[in-house]
This record gives sequence, C-alpha cells and structure tokens, in this order.
Amino acid sequence: MRRLRNTKVIATLGPTSSTAETIEELHLAGADIFRLNFSHGTHADHRVTYTHIRTLEAKQGRPIGILADMQGPKIRIGTFAEGPVYLEKGASFRFDNDTAAGDASRVSLPHPAVLKSLDIGSELLLDDGKLKMTVTGVSDNHVDCVVSTGGKLSDRKGVNIPNVVVKISALTDKDRRDLDFALELGVDWVALSFVQRPEDIAEVKKIVAGRAAVMAKIEKPAAVERLFDIIELSDAVMVARGDLGVEMPVQEVPSIQKKIIACAREAGKPVVVATQMLESMISSPVPTRAEVTDVANAIYDGTDAVMLSAESAAGDHPIEAVTMMNDIAEVTEKDPIYRNIIDATHGDLEATTADAISAAASQVSRTIGASAIVTYTTSGSTALRAARERGKTSVLALTPSLKTARRLALVWGLHCVHTKDAENFADMVAKACKISFAEGFARPGDQVVIMAGVPFGTPGSTNILRIAWVGEQ
Ligand code: PGA
Ligand code: MN
Repeated sequence: MRRLRNTKVIATLGPTSSTAETIEELHLAGADIFRLNFSHGTHADHRVTYTHIRTLEAKQGRPIGILADMQGPKIRIGTFAEGPVYLEKGASFRFDNDTAAGDASRVSLPHPAVLKSLDIGSELLLDDGKLKMTVTGVSDNHVDCVVSTGGKLSDRKGVNIPNVVVKISALTDKDRRDLDFALELGVDWVALSFVQRPEDIAEVKKIVAGRAAVMAKIEKPAAVERLFDIIELSDAVMVARGDLGVEMPVQEVPSIQKKIIACAREAGKPVVVATQMLESMISSPVPTRAEVTDVANAIYDGTDAVMLSAESAAGDHPIEAVTMMNDIAEVTEKDPIYRNIIDATHGDLEATTADAISAAASQVSRTIGASAIVTYTTSGSTALRAARERGKTSVLALTPSLKTARRLALVWGLHCVHTKDAENFADMVAKACKISFAEGFARPGDQVVIMAGVPFGTPGSTNILRIAWVGEQ
C-alpha cells in the first residue's frame, strides 16, 4: 500500500475506535501511526488494542508505528458521581484529597503536592483552560475556589496552574508502571508529557534503553526555553498545542509551532503537530475551514506528522477525520507554493557522508526524473537524513530491522519496507528495483536512485549512490 503524500498521520485510539475493524479502516484511510493514550484506558485495554494493530500489520504487510503516550505529571481531577457538573460564574468549588466521587460543590484532586503548592489568589485552569477558578482559601487537604469562567466539568479533566511551580518529577509512579508495560508490549515510540528540562528526557532514555524511540512533548514554557537541548536529546518532538495553549498565551502557539518545527527540521528529528487539528469533527462529519487551513499550514511548515486526538479516539467520525487529514496532505503537497516553501526552508548540510549522499540523491533524482530514492538503513539514521532533505522524489527505506521500519513510519516521506540486507552490489541494485516496482513506486523502464553503504549491513557506512533502471537486471 502506497500513500500519495509525504506527511504522516497519527490517529489516537480510544473508545470509539479500538475494535480490529475500525483500526483497519483507520489504517486504510491513512493512519500511519497509532497512539495509545495512557492517560486513559487500562493496561488490559491497551494490550488488546496493541494486538489488533500488530495483527493488522501482519495482514497488510506494512510496518505500522505504535506510540505510547505517557500521561506525565499531568494534573487531573477525579470523577463525578452523577456525570458532568455545570459550574456557574461566581459559584464556590472545592478541590480536596477525598477519593469519593464529586458533585457540583467538590471533586477530588489526587495530587497532594499540588494542593500544597497553591495559595490564595492562584489561578486554576480546567479542561484545557475552558474553565477558570481562583483560589480563595487553602488548607492541607483542600483548596476552595471561586469560579471566574464557568462551564461543564467532567471526569478526569486536566488542571493547569501556569504561574505556580509544582515540584513533581518528570515521571510519576503511574508513568513508570505504564512505561514498563508499554515497553514490554513492544511499542515503537514513547512520548513524554510535560517535559521541562533536557534531564527529563535523559532520565526516560535511561529507562527505555533503546527499546523504543523517545518523543518529547513540548507543552510547558520551560521546555520552549530549552527547546534546542531537548531536541538534541530526543528522537522526536511533539508540538502539544493543547496544554501549550493553556500554559502560555494562546496567541503565542502559532509562532512556537513554527519555531519547534524549524528547530526539529534543522536537527533532522521528526516533529508532530498535535491537538484540536480537526476538533469539530468530534461531532461533525465535516471540519471547519479554519481547521482545514490549520492542518494545511502545519504541512506548509514542513511537519513530519499531523495528529488526531479525540477526533479519532472518542469522536463520532474517526474514519472521516483520518480521511480528511489524508486528503488535506495530498492536496497541500501538490501546491507549487508548498514545494517553494519546503525548498526555501532547507537546512544546511552537515559534513557527513550520509548528508552528502542524501543531498546528492535528491539532486540526481530531480535531474533525471527518477521515480524513487531507495535507501538501505539499519538504525534508521541514514533514512532520517534522507528525509531531512524533504526532496521531491519518494524515499523508500529498506531495513532488516522491523523495529526501525516501524519507528520510521513517523517520518516525513519515508515508505518503509522490512527486508533482508543486500548481500552484494548486484543484490543491492536488484532488490531496490524489485521493491520499488512491487510497492508501486516505479515501473519497468523507470530509473531509481539507490543509497547504500559498503560493507553492507554496517550502520553509518553510507557511501554509495547508484542510478539503476528498473527492469535492467
Ligand atoms: P495530551 O497532549 O493530549 O496528552 O494532553 C497533547 C497536548 O497537550 O496537546
Ligand atoms: Mn498535553
């Protein structure tokens, strides 16, 4: 199965989309990566979903990436006894450490450190900033608030306290359990929420120990400040606009998005734009014009992937939402202005053979009108450099590592194929041509440009660029 776009689509799975049938439909509609959101669901739920994805992967014969998103030190309220409550402006509301289900007067806030960090006058934002409250009274086990912006409040909604420093570590106990579980399942990517410092990433990488790639979610002002160092240590980053737009003035989100994308592209690390991309599709079969434009603009910025959250996890139209993302990407990438922007924002090359060969492959394929660039990659690092080119020609990443193929499913423009390494030079050419043809990228008589490294199978040895005619073998 060949996608007709370079930008990848991530679909979050949840209550409305976790059956084997729906996951298959989502994949066929365009989902390249599935996100398991560990803020919701049980381990048993995630295991079932995981198994469905891997079964589908085997059936389709296409590597599919699975991203386990760790909740991180996200502050959430508890649950309500009788469904959502409606809070009026001016009403009093209490947060406490009582585990009993809440009502219109109180709810549990199961984070002792948070209750202790709040002072009279502190502002609390709930449900992505939709509701606002100000603290009017504090004690060791509760805080009293007055509602300044009212609205509906339901189970486990998030709480942001932008101007209060809460000393909680990057991984909660729940995250540690979830992380162990996700790694044992065999997920390809682990996302870390509320990253504040590069050290947070280093800590997680130590635990993960290469078993998955690590994505830093940029959603705190502190992370934006240390963006460069966080990107350096991470395998990918996410522009997590949901919490970012609560923690910082929402009007700063667009410029921060552009900054994060530019910085990640420069570093050659994949970047994901997430949250509210097609928000209205949670309940409507068609998105707003503004949402479509937002998705397109992320693509014009050169993002690797766009992500659906509630639209695919809990909405009424998960398949339509993925189809819409797919269609926006296909159309946007055909716009000549897209190509101009992408070319104009190309980063400088590093003085490495991988960059030299990647840039040359892109140039050569453009000059001769090659149908595909085929890169042999073991760890995936060469394929990442080839993708960083953001070239006009499709890139097939051939790898003997299924793990690498699945991880690279996130990356702009890479069509990953799990296959044995080339045995010799003739095999390298034959395999590249055969797979380009079989995957629908080239026809007999077309040319492909091949990147590889001799000796074969040695990571980091990219040193060959070969032009081949499909059908010449
Ligand atoms: P979340 O992260 O959906 O886990 O909150 C994304 C975001 O904050 O945008
Ligand atoms: Mn978030």
